[in-house]
Parts: sequence; structure tokens; C-alpha cells
Amino acid sequence: MSDCLFCGIVAGDVPATIVSQTPRTVAFADINPQAPVHVLVVPRAHHANLAELIDSPEEDLLREVLAHATEVAQSCGVADGHRIVFNTGPEGGQTVEHVHAHVLGGRQMTWPPG
Ligand code: AMP
Ligand code: ZN
Repeated sequence: MSDCLFCGIVAGDVPATIVSQTPRTVAFADINPQAPVHVLVVPRAHHANLAELIDSPEEDLLREVLAHATEVAQSCGVADGHRIVFNTGPEGGQTVEHVHAHVLGGRQMTWPPG
């Protein structure tokens, strides 16, 4: 989608600190980190949120996003303590409508999240 920020990052049109890439997913540093490790993992293909990804013909992409997110947690040194989060909708805290997994770690997580 031409007006999607994360499609712009995937395309290389918007600068970002790329952490790692796979053929179908990209991991990049969150611009406003909420923890010492805060990386976003997105599918290259545009899907607005988790439900749209699951309902799409490429629902297998979710496994790749999660596998990549887990690999990021390992490569960033937080394999033993991290949180992987998908926000959905304004009330869920979603601000960018391109599905993304937050990988957070490097500090004690609190529960419930705010
Ligand atoms: P969410 O609020 O769950 O939709 O998450 C969107 C995330 O994208 C937020 O944590 C933002 O800090 C992050 N973000 C916004 N713009 C950029 C950008 N240009 N590069 C990297 N991360 C960004
Ligand atoms: Zn997009």
C-alpha cells in the first residue's frame, strides 16, 4: 500500500534500522523503544492487522512472523525473557495499520500491560 509507513520501510523508501530480514518478513528497530530491546517484525505483504492476516490466503505468514520474532529475541540476547505483542485497533493501542509483532525485552515486564 503506497500510503502505509511499514510498506515504505519494507520497500526501503522510509529509513529504518533493519535488524534482520527473511524472504517474507522484515525486522527493524522501533523508533520509540519501550524497552532495551524493542524490535518490530512485519510481513512484507500488507495486511492491516492480525485478523486480516489470519483470514488471508497467506495465513502461513503468521508462523513466519512468529518464527522471525523468536529468532530476533534469540539474536538480541533476550531468549529467556521477552514479550511478543500484537496490538489491534485504537483501543488495543495499534497506531500503524500494517500487522506487526513487537518483540520487547531487556527489562522486567509488568502484568497486566497498560
Ligand atoms: P502499534 O502502536 O502497535 O501500532 O505500534 C507501532 C509502532 O511503530 C510504535 O511502537 C512506534 O514507535 C513504531 N514506529 C512508528 N514509526 C516508526 C518508524 N518510522 N520506524 C520504526 N518504528 C516506528
Ligand atoms: Zn503496509
